[in-house]
Amino acid sequence: MIDSYTHKGLRERLVNSLREKGINKENVLDAMLKIPRHFFMANGFEERAYQDNAFPIAAGQTISQPYTVAFQTSLLEIKPHDKVLEIGTGSGYQTAVLMEIGAKVYSLERQKELYKSAQLILRKLGYIPSCFFKDGYEGLPTYGPFDKILITAGAPEMPKSLLEQLKIGGIIVAPIGKSDSQDMIKMTRISETEFNTENLGKFAFVPMLKGKK
Ligand code: SAH
Repeated sequence: MIDSYTHKGLRERLVNSLREKGINKENVLDAMLKIPRHFFMANGFEERAYQDNAFPIAAGQTISQPYTVAFQTSLLEIKPHDKVLEIGTGSGYQTAVLMEIGAKVYSLERQKELYKSAQLILRKLGYIPSCFFKDGYEGLPTYGPFDKILITAGAPEMPKSLLEQLKIGGIIVAPIGKSDSQDMIKMTRISETEFNTENLGKFAFVPMLKGKK
């Protein structure tokens, strides 16, 4: 795959449009400027890769809209070396953004096909991912607790098991709600038993499903 000047130009335009839509975290914008999003999509969709839209990938799933990736990543307030649990590897694009800004990412995916393809492309780009073919509802207790947790599929409610795997002071960001529309919820763990909850508005994700495929 080639990352041409045309791709780079389209990417710059996309990042400028994200800035205009209110994304202001420079580390997030820099990462998205650098990562060739078209590598994470099927051949022939290069133009589409740099429009601010979600797009179908394998196994009936979608690569999240660039604005959504930027928004969720910004909410996580990633610091270098943060240990991040990501639920829903999908294409691997969001994983790359997190790694590019210095996070150590543990990413879970329930679709075997995507679990395999995301790792291939991430490796090709020089990221060393820790990917697992696993149901995200279980999380990854043996590797936790985590500084940050990100869910990239719509969950009917905040999974309790994942809250337990968050460090005190840690942040979880997840779209919560019915299948057609979810609220972007950010919870900060302030003690063993207390969380501060914020609702950042409506989004639409593919559903977070139980079990593996
Ligand atoms: N961040 C990804 C989003 C992919 S869509 C990207 O931008 O490419 C959401 C992904 O979550 C899908 O790949 C779907 O298979 C996965 N998913 C849904 N439920 C899951 C679960 N319980 N555990 C792990 N992954 C899950």
